Amino acid sequence: MDTPPAQVALAAAALKRGGLVIMPTETVYGLAADAGNPGAVAALYEAKGRPAFNPLISHVADQAAARRIARFDERAERLAAAFWPGPLTLVLPIADRAAVCDLARAGLDTVAVRAPGHPLAQALLRAFGGPLVAPSANRSGRPSPTTLADALEETGASAAAALDGGPCAVGLESTVIALLDAPRLLRPGAVTRAAIEAILGPLAEADDDARRSPGRLARHYAPHSPLRLEITAPAPGEAWLAFGPARAGERIWNLSPTGDLAEAAANLFAHLRAADRCGASAIAVAPIPREGLGEAINDRLRRAAGYVG
Ligand code: AMP
Ligand code: MG
Repeated sequence: MDTPPAQVALAAAALKRGGLVIMPTETVYGLAADAGNPGAVAALYEAKGRPAFNPLISHVADQAAARRIARFDERAERLAAAFWPGPLTLVLPIADRAAVCDLARAGLDTVAVRAPGHPLAQALLRAFGGPLVAPSANRSGRPSPTTLADALEETGASAAAALDGGPCAVGLESTVIALLDAPRLLRPGAVTRAAIEAILGPLAEADDDARRSPGRLARHYAPHSPLRLEITAPAPGEAWLAFGPARAGERIWNLSPTGDLAEAAANLFAHLRAADRCGASAIAVAPIPREGLGEAINDRLRRAAGYVG
């Protein structure tokens, strides 16, 4: 079997040729492409079935690499110093339009950039030597994959290579903050609002300006079965995603028996997928507290249920 460094070198070579690579990150598995290669980025949108008006996050190894593609201000520096490498994405003015092609930015003058912390993502970025766009490796609208097997099931047929980083430690997508005027939370995620506000002060709410975050689609992260939220007693025939102390049983998956939000986040997409496979008429989900990581978990659940626009 190939050693991991050889696999990373092969994956980097595939990216150089314009191929797509399944890449583990600490949030979810991504499908990576060379951000500066419009043909590769077009193949990525195609593989995901993703609308090309929904721009992609550019992944870089560190702050120095981020500064080559984006214009940093003092707020960006403070957030990057506090949370990178890690699950925080910054939307900033674009500095190098060739390194992140128009298609990857959906034609915007801004770029979303993040330095992931997963060692294999770091190794791949350093071997490749440039920014990689890497949206979640699911088909557009489906739950994000948090294991290699789930990623292969979704988009494996389109990938030239895949790296196995084990189950994702965080399990939820990155937090997205725009630093274009007042700091705005575009997507709640693995870094909590409170952690960011401790550094920047109060965040402005994201407005409905579709240009700011065109990816806030109503139905997203969705299983095939209908989803019902805030359910404490599932109906006969339904699967149940429980939270906290609950009876065990067939078709019951507990996001966290101890009521731990980090554990629930890490289990969310894998449990949704498992419940989706069991043949239930619907998936009922227990109420999840809204504080801390609960904001991002509830955001994903509402979108998976198609409740929000
Ligand atoms: P995903 O790739 O599915 O994790 O989603 C990336 C998120 O970042 C989507 O909600 C995008 O709309 C958002 N995003 C990416 N680039 C930009 C940008 N330049 N301005 C605003 N939002 C962005
Ligand atoms: Mg996604």
